[in-house]
Amino acid sequence: MSAKNLSPRLFCILGLIIVVVITALLYVTTASYEKTLIGTCIALVVLICYIIFKIGDGWMNSMEAEQIKSDQTRFTARIDRYRLSLSALPEGVVLFRQGHTVEWCNPAAEKHLGIKLTTHLGMALNLVFDNPKIIEYLESGDYSKPIEIKSHEPGRILLLSAVVADKTHFIVVSHDITEQRRIDSMRKDFVANVSHELRTPLTVIMGFLDMIVRGKEFDEKTLREHLGLMQQETSRMQSLVNDLLSLSRLESKDEQESDPPEVVNMPKLVASLAEDGVALSRGRHTIDTDISSDKAVLGQVDELRSACLNLVTNAVRYTPEGGKIQIAWRFDPQTESAIFSVKDNGIGIDAEDIPRLTERFYRVDKSRSRETGGTGLGLAIVKHVAIRNHCRLDIQSELGKGSTFSLIFPKESLVD
Ligand code: ADP
Repeated sequence: MSAKNLSPRLFCILGLIIVVVITALLYVTTASYEKTLIGTCIALVVLICYIIFKIGDGWMNSMEAEQIKSDQTRFTARIDRYRLSLSALPEGVVLFRQGHTVEWCNPAAEKHLGIKLTTHLGMALNLVFDNPKIIEYLESGDYSKPIEIKSHEPGRILLLSAVVADKTHFIVVSHDITEQRRIDSMRKDFVANVSHELRTPLTVIMGFLDMIVRGKEFDEKTLREHLGLMQQETSRMQSLVNDLLSLSRLESKDEQESDPPEVVNMPKLVASLAEDGVALSRGRHTIDTDISSDKAVLGQVDELRSACLNLVTNAVRYTPEGGKIQIAWRFDPQTESAIFSVKDNGIGIDAEDIPRLTERFYRVDKSRSRETGGTGLGLAIVKHVAIRNHCRLDIQSELGKGSTFSLIFPKESLVD
């Protein structure tokens, strides 16, 4: 056993024994009290100095050990925090070690890439991935551009990139771009649809103008007919541009902070919509009004007016002459909601078309919609307004029998 391993108490006892032995030896060899006392004092001083040195050394050691321990705890806590943050990321992150073996991955990577950390830990990338495109990309070492791949989750698309972290590690990051791709394709469809919608009236107008410019002679009746058609096409383009502007305004309002809601006097609004309906119908339909509730709603009056007018216009558009239209505002005590509805006995809609009616430019019968001045954007606007004004659009229809379009306001939106 070395002196290092002795307990402090044993060390002191041994030291005192040595001092006693030295004292005894000094007394025996010198037979002088004085010399013995001096020798004993020296031995005691040496012993005390040694003990002080040892205590200091031990204290320093324990301080150092404590410091190392606290550094380790802090380091572990920091790593845990980093792991926690990486685990919360929507992006998948996989850490690969030299030799392309998996060292760590977060839950998003497990979901995106089908990795299971418990199963694939320490496994080489060609055993982890079954998609040759991923393996080729990661083995190539050229990570200057990300690659697009199919996610392990069905129907989702990922952008996969890799970054060299240090000499021995690289990190693979997967980013779900499904939504982005969907928006891109919607935008492309939208531009294509708008171009198509504008091209048709423009072609008609250009055709007539061409004939006039080339000096073709028309009798007055034909000229009037052509000018009438040009006017119709121009007004169609105007409606389209107006609807596009309404949609764009609603969308840009979505991004801004919304205006505070106003109290909208629905009985008054519905009565004025009925008058608009009569004017639009020009006596071709019977239009009834049923305003049995005096509830007002909280919302944006201009938006609600335009949405309700769209429903009235559609009823007039898609109900043949002689048909009946009922415009109503009533309270349903069962659901405690108030309902604005436009009911017609017009052409009706097939059940399979109903879910698609609020898509931009979706029309059951394109030519009929065009003939009657429709743009295919009306119900998209209504749906948008409904969302913004906290009500719900409900569509009930039967082909050949008629339709009821309703805006349902929950009790939270109602004002007595
Ligand atoms: P449009 O400008 O073509 O009327 P909307 O978005 O307002 O566009 O309506 C989309 C389609 O829904 C219409 O083209 C029409 O086919 C159908 N539709 C809307 N309202 C009615 C209704 N009251 N009766 C029958 N079909 C309707």
